[in-house]
Amino acid sequence: MAHPHVALARKRLTVLSDGSTDSCALVFCESERRSVSASTCLVCAFANPRRGLDPHDAVYCERSLLPAAGAAIDATFPPAVAAALPVGLALSRSVVCVQAALPWGAVARTPALTASTGAVPVVDGAGALVGVLSATARAGLRAPADGLTSVGDCASCAVWVHESESLGDAFATMGARHLRELTVVGDGQNVVGVLRDVDALHFVSYIARTGMRPTPERAA
Ligand code: SF4
Repeated sequence: MAHPHVALARKRLTVLSDGSTDSCALVFCESERRSVSASTCLVCAFANPRRGLDPHDAVYCERSLLPAAGAAIDATFPPAVAAALPVGLALSRSVVCVQAALPWGAVARTPALTASTGAVPVVDGAGALVGVLSATARAGLRAPADGLTSVGDCASCAVWVHESESLGDAFATMGARHLRELTVVGDGQNVVGVLRDVDALHFVSYIARTGMRPTPERAA
């Protein structure tokens, strides 16, 4: 049985400008309403390392109020309240980002980028969102003969939502822009995840029905 105070972690993988990768586990901190690295939780007074959880998967957080699926509780949230919860709580998928300075010719040689099925957020050297590479763009573009074009030159404008905004706001943005997913940013426009409509709808309906957060899919 899951413990009600387990906060789930997700992975952010960034392809750097030299083709190497940087990986980080993130947790949405309910009390701070923002994503923090799982390593931050390890030194937080409200974490309980004796629970033996792998911080790359989950942390035991005494301040987590929304219980995980499988916990022995009996509570329900009305749908309107569930839709008012912050976007960050619904993030569960790994996200793959790429730095804008990566040469375009390296995209096809980078498994993390070719394997990613959705849009890939493009970030600057500090991790801030500067655009997005659609799956169509990655599949259809070829590097120019001079090989000087960078990923940033090929990126299009990103539609994003801040992780502290409500899921209802995210649904409204997706509806207005006819999108199935949004890039999610935190403070400083740093990318913290991707929100897909199916995941958000499942999250809201599950909480409205059970009063607990669903066990997420781990697909990228
Ligand atoms: S352990 Fe601390 S930093 Fe981590 S989610 Fe809980 S309150 Fe936030």
